[in-house]
Amino acid sequence: MAGIYIHIPFCKQACHYCDFHFSTSLKKKDELIAALVKEIQLRKEELTGTVETIYFGGGTPSLLKNSELQLLLDEVYANFEVSENPEITLEANPDDLTEKLIYQLALSPINRLSIGVQSFFEEDLKLMNRAHNAEEAEKCIQLAKEHFSNISIDLIYGIPEMTHERWLANVEKALALNIPHLSCYALTVEPKTALENFIKKGIVPPVEDDVAQEHHRLLVEKTEAAGYENYEFSNFSKSDWHSKNNTAYWQGKPYLGIGPSAHSYDGGRRSWNVANNSVYIKKIETGELPLERETLSTKDKYNEYVMTRLRTANGISIQEVSKAFGVPYKDYLLQQAAQHVASELLEHKNERLIVTKKGKFLTDGISSDLFLVELQG
Ligand code: SF4
Repeated sequence: MAGIYIHIPFCKQACHYCDFHFSTSLKKKDELIAALVKEIQLRKEELTGTVETIYFGGGTPSLLKNSELQLLLDEVYANFEVSENPEITLEANPDDLTEKLIYQLALSPINRLSIGVQSFFEEDLKLMNRAHNAEEAEKCIQLAKEHFSNISIDLIYGIPEMTHERWLANVEKALALNIPHLSCYALTVEPKTALENFIKKGIVPPVEDDVAQEHHRLLVEKTEAAGYENYEFSNFSKSDWHSKNNTAYWQGKPYLGIGPSAHSYDGGRRSWNVANNSVYIKKIETGELPLERETLSTKDKYNEYVMTRLRTANGISIQEVSKAFGVPYKDYLLQQAAQHVASELLEHKNERLIVTKKGKFLTDGISSDLFLVELQG
């Protein structure tokens, strides 16, 4: 199994918290799409195995015309073996999702929408400088549900001045809309973003960790009561609606990332494309791949395994660690995990190490305690 990720590096406006790669100028859109097509061709030998997921991420892929998305899909199908019924996701923003676009998308091979709602409240959307308003956030979901069953929405918690009640109202709204998949992220203040600048200047209050923790707790409680599975730290789904794309990533399956700033993984090496549209286009035009690569050591792979698996509901398989990395790694893992098992942040269950409810919000910190730092792989 393999996946293809296509990065569309354009947005209408810059959200204040965002540090992804995008440009708000669409001047180079045609050249960029031509370069994406060429990169797909140049890298057709890089993936072995059937492509089971295709993911348009960004940036804002819903800024592309249907014909442009179809052109990219045609190129994927022409250069790779694609399974009979792949999951094809489009990240879309509410302000783009008009009735007409949703109808067109429903006629295309795209079968999953991941909608960047972030909040159903005007105050939060304004603070984050999102391009849509609260009305559009709700309306686009109602419209999308008429044509798509596989829908996910993104929500952000821990936003400055977001009360617990407002976050709860966001979660309840999502549940009332009966969306099968939710991805919920804590707002993080990334370096050199407008949000960081506003906080430094006192224009916006700081992001509080304990508020985010309480929002996460409320989220887990509410979604669980509504029958959603928290199958990965940030991801909640009704049964059968897990994201195949994300799951493959957490399981360490290979994927090819096309487009500026996109990352790829082939099972042993990781690569990342240059995060600059002009440089990307120029290099691709000359037939050069605009990327850097690194080969992962056993230690790197072990650390990644721990980091990704611990965030999932299945946790870390002790047997798998022993088989994939060797007995010394397994022993090291158990030795490091013991303190967290004793404090009930981790539990042993069916030969696996799984984060408990108590430890859930601390998952990333627990992972780093299980990382191998001193030995070479
Ligand atoms: S729409 Fe998405 S990618 Fe674009 S600026 Fe906002 S958060 Fe970033």
